[in-house]
Amino acid sequence: MKISAEERFWHKVNRDGPSECWTWMGSTSGKNYKNGNGYGVFWDGKKIRKATHVAWELEYKQEFPIDKMACHHCDNPICVRPSHIYVGDGFTNAQDRLRRGRHEHANKTHCLRGHPFSGDNLVVQGTRRRCRICLRIRDANHTKRMNEKGYWKSGQSKGWRLRKDMQ
Ligand SMILES: [Zn+2]
Ligand SMILES: [Zn+2]
Repeated sequence: MKISAEERFWHKVNRDGPSECWTWMGSTSGKNYKNGNGYGVFWDGKKIRKATHVAWELEYKQEFPIDKMACHHCDNPICVRPSHIYVGDGFTNAQDRLRRGRHEHANKTHCLRGHPFSGDNLVVQGTRRRCRICLRIRDANHTKRMNEKGYWKSGQSKGWRLRKDMQ
């Protein structure tokens, strides 16, 4: 008995992984995309399609809009769980990502070690928020390691120099 394209499709999906996402186990394309795994592709018997589009079509029983793209609520390109996929255009997707990114950053009031992200302690580098105390600790640790190896540098200079007695 010949199995349907739909059956073939779901055979390539792992729904029992550790996350809520359904992982595409079939072929992928676009290796450089994001996490290096690319997006899933599926041969539907006539042509190669994006796995996310096929998953969406199987769930909602309609054709995926030709001028739109499949976006992920979960931000996981390899996920084909229909409830994680929504129809968007490139602009919506970028906006969504930006909004979420901003939201996440805005929610952080303390660094990983619990120093407050406020006042003088907050250092903004591009879109990242850094903790001044942690940056100082990191610098001090680096200086200590370099000193132990026999290197020194004066406050203003950028380069490390090997101590005379170590040369
Ligand atoms: Zn997902
Ligand atoms: Zn910190």
